[in-house]
Amino acid sequence: MHTDEVRSWVDQAERVVVLTGAGISTESGIPDFRGPQGVWTKNPQAEKLSNIHYYMADADVRKAAWKSRLEHPAWNAKPNAGHLALAALEQRGKLHALITQNIDELHQMAGNSPERVIEVHGTVRKVICMACGMTAPMQKALDRVRAGEEDPPCRDCGGILKSATISFGQQLVPEVIARAMRAAMAADVFLAIGTSLQVYPIAGAVEVAKAAGARIVILNAEPTPFDETADAVFRESIGTTLPVLLQN
Ligand code: NAD
Repeated sequence: MHTDEVRSWVDQAERVVVLTGAGISTESGIPDFRGPQGVWTKNPQAEKLSNIHYYMADADVRKAAWKSRLEHPAWNAKPNAGHLALAALEQRGKLHALITQNIDELHQMAGNSPERVIEVHGTVRKVICMACGMTAPMQKALDRVRAGEEDPPCRDCGGILKSATISFGQQLVPEVIARAMRAAMAADVFLAIGTSLQVYPIAGAVEVAKAAGARIVILNAEPTPFDETADAVFRESIGTTLPVLLQN
C-alpha cells in the first residue's frame, strides 16, 4: 500500500539506519525465538539453557550447549533475498548503519561491510573465554568437541568457553549500545525488520530515531508495540517485500 512512498523516502534519504532481528534469517533456515515457529514458542525451557547463570554453574548445561552448537542452523545457512537487499542498499551509498540483534553474521556474508554492522548481541561464529577474554573461531572449538572434549576449556587459562553472544543474564556491551543509539539519532529513515521489538534497550532505538525526526518503517509478520508510532507498517514476508521496498 505504502510501497511507493517508502521507496521515495529511501531515495531521498541520506542516512538509512536498519535494525534487524531473528525474522530476517528465518527464510535462511534459522528459526526465531518468538515467532509462531520460534525456539521459545515451541519449547519454553530452551530459554533457561541460554541463561548465563546456569551455563557458568553447571557442566551438564555447558555440555548440552556444546552439543546444540554442533548442530546450529547457522553453519549451513546462506543469506536470503532480504539480506541481499540490505547489501544492495549499502552499495547505493544509503546505509548509515545496520544494527542487528542476530548472531549469525548473515549480513556480512551477504556483503554488508563489517564496519557498518553493529552486533548488539555478539556472534555465534566466535568463542570467548569467560575468564581471560580470549576470543577464537567457533569452528576450532567445535572441532575439539567432535574430537571428544564435551566442555572444551580455554587453551590459554583453562577458563570456561562460551559462544561470543550475549546470553540471558549477561550485560550488554555499553559502547556497542551507545553506538547503535547514536546511529538511530542520525537516521532520516529507520527500518525495523524481522524483530518483535520486545527486547530492550535496543527496541528503544525506534523511539530515539522517531524523536530525532526519522521516518519509521516496520516490516514484521506479527504486530509490534511500535506499529502505532511507525509511518508505515508491512506485515509481510521479508524475503518478498524488502527487495521491493528497497528497489532502486
Ligand atoms: P523475535 O524472535 O523476538 O521476533 C522475530 C519476529 O520476526 C517475529 O515477530 C516474527 O513474526 C517475525 N518474522 C519471522 N520470520 C519472518 C519473515 N520471514 N518475514 C517477516 N517477519 C518474520 O526476534 P528478535 O526481536 O530478534 O529477538 C530475539 C533474540 O534472539 C535476539 O536478541 C537475537 O539475538 C536472538 N536470535 C538470533 C537469531 C539469529 O541470529 N538468526 C535467531 C534466533 C534468536
